[in-house]
Amino acid sequence: MSHVFARHSRTDLRQASIGKGAYLYDADGKEYFDGSGGAAVSCLGHGDPDVIAAVQAQVAQLAYAHTSFFTSQPAEELADRLVAAAPGDLDKVYFVSGGSEAVEAALKLARQYFVEVGQPERRHFIARRQSYHGNTLGALATGGNVWRKQAFAPIMVETSLISPCYAYRGQQNGESSFDYGQRVANELEAELQRLGPETVIAFVAEPVVGATLGAVPPVEGYFKRIREICDHYGILLILDEVMCGMGRTGTLFAHEQEGITADIVTIAKGLGAGYQPIGAMMCTGRVHQAIADGSGFFQHGHTYIGHPTACAAGNAVVKKLTGGLVERCAVMGDKLQAALEAEFGQHPHIGDIRGRGLFRGLEIVEDRTTKAPFDPAKGLNKLIKKTAMSNGLACYPMGGTVDGQHGDHVLLAPPFIMEDDQVDEVVSKLKKIFDAVL
Ligand code: PMP
Repeated sequence: MSHVFARHSRTDLRQASIGKGAYLYDADGKEYFDGSGGAAVSCLGHGDPDVIAAVQAQVAQLAYAHTSFFTSQPAEELADRLVAAAPGDLDKVYFVSGGSEAVEAALKLARQYFVEVGQPERRHFIARRQSYHGNTLGALATGGNVWRKQAFAPIMVETSLISPCYAYRGQQNGESSFDYGQRVANELEAELQRLGPETVIAFVAEPVVGATLGAVPPVEGYFKRIREICDHYGILLILDEVMCGMGRTGTLFAHEQEGITADIVTIAKGLGAGYQPIGAMMCTGRVHQAIADGSGFFQHGHTYIGHPTACAAGNAVVKKLTGGLVERCAVMGDKLQAALEAEFGQHPHIGDIRGRGLFRGLEIVEDRTTKAPFDPAKGLNKLIKKTAMSNGLACYPMGGTVDGQHGDHVLLAPPFIMEDDQVDEVVSKLKKIFDAVL
């Protein structure tokens, strides 16, 4: 019996043993195409010699130095790289060990910002239903996964949730997609009025919704309207790019494609590409300056912030991403979308095929014309995962647990190094899986 505390206590997990390129191998030698990069993590694939060399060199030279006493060359270099590549005025980078830590740091920074500038009455966050921002208590509060939240509801920060921007589910009476986007963005304004805008700290959203909806991009104009509302009421905009960032959608930062800037952005997953646990919270000079001019101390921190070995991995990864791999992700993403549409465009149970870059979602529905979801009780996502694993495809099916209404989807987030024949491999494996399950 395993003594590892597995998340799914009733699942027998296979042991992953070797990673090579876009494939994983279990302890029995069975091969799996890494169709979701774990959870949109492994953007470079496995066994990248440059990242391995960078990590090995750093661990040999200086594995760790506590940030109370030292900064380090890899941390300084990575911050410079990220700031140089980021849109807008994102000017400071706070390194952490993963996505939830990045979101938690963002929420605390936003609250402290308003304390520093003399607005301590601001205490609410507004986020969106059908989102996921992490599992620590603050991050969990801003997420919309009812099932994950319910046990902890009595001990969480109060957060209001508004609608996500999800075109085909939400458009009403022939409304254009632009009008739909404006209408759901205006829910933010209504919620601000309800709470009292002077009590609100920030609005939190994923530019492209990942785990909970399956790679759902916003409609045009939605985030511009959101930015306008945030500016009008002086609240901060926190964009969570933990999953959709680091090139996954075909640009280094997903929100570049929305033509807006953020006050705070969180990244993780693809930043370490699985070679090291690392995340980051980036903020504008203005937000940082308020702390610097005020108490001079961000009231937050962890032992492993700015970890030199993790930052060395981050540098090697970002060098590759900005050296042409992000563009490759965009090209391969278009090919994957075209292949998925060709195979499943008319499938009776596929309601939508969407996404950007190598971040794609297939919506699985009872009926493709009405988009009626499968009954969540059917546990379709679990069945798909099991069938996918036995067919040598590691993919990321979700469903039913988000708000009890929205159904099943499969999220694809393969490594950016994937080749044309691997596009065909993913599609043919998915076909086998859907033939068996749907
Ligand atoms: N934000 C988003 C958008 C995510 O997708 C995730 C992880 N799926 C997180 C935050 C939390 O990241 P982590 O699991 O590294 O704590």
